[in-house]
Amino acid sequence: MPVKGLGEYDPTNIFARILRSEIPSRRVFENEHAIAFHDINPQAAIHVLVIPKGAYISLADFTTQASDAEITGFFKAVGAVAKQLDLETPGYRILANMGEHAGQEVPHFHVHLFGGHPLGPMLAR
Ligand code: 5GP
Repeated sequence: MPVKGLGEYDPTNIFARILRSEIPSRRVFENEHAIAFHDINPQAAIHVLVIPKGAYISLADFTTQASDAEITGFFKAVGAVAKQLDLETPGYRILANMGEHAGQEVPHFHVHLFGGHPLGPMLAR
């Protein structure tokens, strides 16, 4: 059952097109259930996006519709990317925008991973 209020997944969104390799991306990691690539408009020295390969709009969509293997594979990918980029010791931040109030631009669930320098306060005031 789709998540109430979310509407249909748009298969033409930019991340769906990246997944189909219709447009290029600078990939840093891939496993069975997720890919990670550099953000086109980085907000930190390191700014990588991790996305599930399946068609999910939001976290609720993902966690209610995806299989346990997809969910595990996705979150393992987030951890693997941080490790691969040597961010465990200096630290890093993950963030996910959901819907209008968070300003989600791309309607395919994704996690931002920021690092490479001290990141400052969690939210701008
Ligand atoms: P959101 O606001 O949905 O959480 O974040 C979407 C992110 O996708 C933004 O940080 C934006 O810069 C990034 N983005 C949008 N279009 C592209 C693209 O074509 N390629 C890549 N690599 N990133 C993109």
